[in-house]
Amino acid sequence: MTLVMKFGGTSVGSAQAMRETAVLITNTLKSWSNGIVIASAMGSKPVKVTDLLLNGAYAAAKGDLETARTNAALIREIHQATINELLTNEQDAIREENNTFIDHFESLCQAVAVLGELSPRALDTIGGMGERMSVRILAAYMREQGVPAEAIDATELILTDSRFQDASPDFAGTKEQTEARIRPLLDQNIIPIVTGFIGADANGVQTTLGRGGSDFSAAILGQVLGAEEVWIWTDVDGVMTTDPRIVDNARSIPELSFREVSELAYYGARVLHPKTMRPCVENNIPLRIKNTFNPEHPGTVIVPKRTNQNGGIKAVTSIKDLSLITVEGKGMLGIPGIAARTFGAVATTGQSVLLISQASSEQSICFTTPSSASKIVVDALNSEFTKELARRDIDSIQAHNGVSIITVVGAGMRGLPGVAGKVFTALGDSGVNIIAIAQGSSECSISVVVEEQESVTAVQSIHALI
Ligand code: ADP
Ligand code: ASP
Ligand code: MG
Repeated sequence: MTLVMKFGGTSVGSAQAMRETAVLITNTLKSWSNGIVIASAMGSKPVKVTDLLLNGAYAAAKGDLETARTNAALIREIHQATINELLTNEQDAIREENNTFIDHFESLCQAVAVLGELSPRALDTIGGMGERMSVRILAAYMREQGVPAEAIDATELILTDSRFQDASPDFAGTKEQTEARIRPLLDQNIIPIVTGFIGADANGVQTTLGRGGSDFSAAILGQVLGAEEVWIWTDVDGVMTTDPRIVDNARSIPELSFREVSELAYYGARVLHPKTMRPCVENNIPLRIKNTFNPEHPGTVIVPKRTNQNGGIKAVTSIKDLSLITVEGKGMLGIPGIAARTFGAVATTGQSVLLISQASSEQSICFTTPSSASKIVVDALNSEFTKELARRDIDSIQAHNGVSIITVVGAGMRGLPGVAGKVFTALGDSGVNIIAIAQGSSECSISVVVEEQESVTAVQSIHALI
């Protein structure tokens, strides 16, 4: 019986958090024959080590070495304080290991500043250092508590492609590497404490799985080790009816289907990385989300299909910093393959499209992209449709910046008439203007696009319906 447990940034964010995490690991694993732990970089709110590393690198690329140095000092301070408080025998050794990473961070930032260029590959080497430091501290602390544990860099386990910053795992290669490296430890009852977030490509170069990717690391290792369950330990009581930072009385949801939680994660519920679900669904591995700081709470269990589908809306999420791009024109009806060409042009920019809505009577297609990408997307569309624009078959290609997507999720919405009506009425009553609407064919979610400054009101007014 194998359990994979992932501890997020706040769960290892301080000496006290690491102590609580260590107790949870030891207590939980008493009932399991094998346990693997994945840990994120230290991340006590609002200071996340990963952010300090990446922002330092971005600043260095602009020639601002001062910020990189300040961040390095802060990273040193955070880790040093934790090491001093937690460790005795291994204090010096772990401090030295951590300092080597921070020194390396500083010299990489210097190189970046000299070159004036920051490649995705360099960003992954820099951004993944937080995990490499935190697992060393946690494993040493466990050992000092008399629990055999070993820190492992996932570069030794998770084989990925070379798509830096958003790498995808090669499951067969990962299984082979993981079995070879982890199985002997499990056989000796040593708990592997593995870095989340990172992997390495076939050349051994460090990659990352995308921001928030430690959840995905846990699911990947769960799959390749044939785990019975994957547990995600975080700082809230599981998946909630909405982000508790937006609505005070957000409630924990005891059970959700993979489908529901995938929609939530995809549309902005940060509590789970959207790629976490697939390895679990495909291998029938139940996924639990629990609170490190309130471990008695049952949290949320994610199951293949919810048996009780009553109740309509389960949760509401939002994503900010988006742009709504509209391609519009009276002559569009006559142009073959317009949608294919539109999204083909977007694909050349490498940007993801979260939502698409098409109105045939108005002859327009609109979709969202991250705000930061709106200019390159519009440029790509202008060049794809130069002829159509000249002929006035397409009248305009426009970006509406500063919008949010609000998504309402619940498998029970299917077959429950009037849910959409209630959502739109709630938004209307709060004075929120809906710019675009899209409904998934699964009827598991409805998304609306609103002005970003109305997004909090929109979430709050919909949450009042739950
Ligand atoms: P970790 O470091 O443990 O991975 P994250 O910060 O990535 O933690 O994710 C947990 C946070 O996600 C919560 O503190 C909460 O603010 C946010 N969040 C957003 N939407 C939801 C939701 N629907 N349910 C629970 N948490 C949510
Ligand atoms: N530390 C990484 C991040 O901040 C990965 C994670 O927390 O899941 O994105
Ligand atoms: Mg997270």
